[in-house]
Amino acid sequence: MSTTTPIAVLGAGPAGMAATLGLLKAGHDVRLYERYAHARPAGNILNLWPPPIKALEDMGVDIEDLGAPCHTTFRSEAGHVRADVRIPDEVVARYGGGFIGMLRPDLYSRMLAAIPDGVVQTGRELASIDDHGDGVTLRFSDGEIVETPVLIGADGIDSTVRRHLWGATPKRPHHLHIIGGFTFDIDDVPGLERGEVVLTHNRTVQGTYSSIRRDGRDGVQWWVLEAWRDDQDAPADLRAHATGLAAGFRGPLSDLVARTDVAHVQRWPIRDLAPLQRWSKGRITIAGDAAHATSPYAAYGAGMSICDGYFLGQALVGVDLDDDADVVAALGAYEQLRIPHTRSQVQQAYILGKVFHHAPTVLRPVRDFILDRTPLLQRQVGERSPGEIVAQLAEMGAGILAPAER
Ligand SMILES: Cc1cc2nc3c(=O)[nH]c(=O)nc-3n(C[C@H](O)[C@H](O)[C@H](O)COP(=O)(O)OP(=O)(O)OC[C@H]3O[C@@H](n4cnc5c(N)ncnc54)[C@H](O)[C@@H]3O)c2cc1C
Repeated sequence: MSTTTPIAVLGAGPAGMAATLGLLKAGHDVRLYERYAHARPAGNILNLWPPPIKALEDMGVDIEDLGAPCHTTFRSEAGHVRADVRIPDEVVARYGGGFIGMLRPDLYSRMLAAIPDGVVQTGRELASIDDHGDGVTLRFSDGEIVETPVLIGADGIDSTVRRHLWGATPKRPHHLHIIGGFTFDIDDVPGLERGEVVLTHNRTVQGTYSSIRRDGRDGVQWWVLEAWRDDQDAPADLRAHATGLAAGFRGPLSDLVARTDVAHVQRWPIRDLAPLQRWSKGRITIAGDAAHATSPYAAYGAGMSICDGYFLGQALVGVDLDDDADVVAALGAYEQLRIPHTRSQVQQAYILGKVFHHAPTVLRPVRDFILDRTPLLQRQVGERSPGEIVAQLAEMGAGILAPAER
């Protein structure tokens, strides 16, 4: 296998675009294969923590005014702040906010703009994989065969690459669904707190809104999340259903839902994948949801996916792709850095969904008493989890070409 053959990245979602950018920055030739005719975002609502913002900046993505800087609180139905998500001031100042609210298509267009022409190959669906030790043969459904020294499977929760490496992993249903939307019609919304993610739980439902920015215009995205059996049909009228759920909350949530164009309302059943012990085998690895699909309770799946690309780039700087042992060691170093952090975030998000939406009815008053009167939630989602996320900034070092001392 000649090193003139490009590394293959499969899937042009946040993970695949970031892996492409990270590997290009590391000095490798790369091709990004996407099954659809365009790299298209599945959905609209999105917030990013500081580590993915740092990764995007280092990879040459324009992050200027990408979204609205937000501060986050978890609140009770009565408006009591149960947890204040603490991000150090210097991090907020450096990365333009603790949690940036944006629309997903804007992230896609900024990332795609940073990828050179000719790298993204659309309309290319991977059909089969053969790792023959000194390289990998990819067969696409259009009959094309591609030889590559390394395959990165960034092909989402239904990943063909993950299945090839580790067998079928059934999706873990959370028996929850989320309905979300966005609006820019916010000028006179009573009680709207700008620059905030206001995340409120009543006994059964989470209702949240977050500032967003697009092309210099301020708006709001919102979502409602409740228990919903995985085999249950979706509500026929999503906005009407969301309106009913939002009516249970004080503040501007109902008004925001009412102002949202039905075309901007979407629903997702929530599923993840139980974390793996290993990601890589031979010359193949996985990234993004293929490796660590997580619930939106983390609000970090895309963020972790972007950071995967950054760490992949770092791991493969200076690696001779003709050298089997070097490639295997680099992919091993990548997964060793990523598995502990992503596993912790996936499991925390899974547990939060259980606590807030699947607690037995008789225990809910007790749960809410504990969340209102003890520092439990503050410690977990206000300090421990954001602390883990902010610690990634040090793990990342100064850039892809300037890793942290390990
Ligand atoms: C409602 C909701 C809200 C969320 N909110 C947040 C948030 O606020 N912050 C956050 O960080 N994350 C959030 N997430 C999570 C985030 O959306 C995902 O983690 C992220 O999109 C994963 O990116 P990915 O690139 O790994 O996978 P995907 O985005 O699924 O992309 C996979 C790509 O691979 C392609 N593909 C698949 N199979 C093949 C094949 N065989 N051949 C070629 N191409 C293929 C697909 O077409 C697709 O383009 C949220 C998720 C949901 C559902």
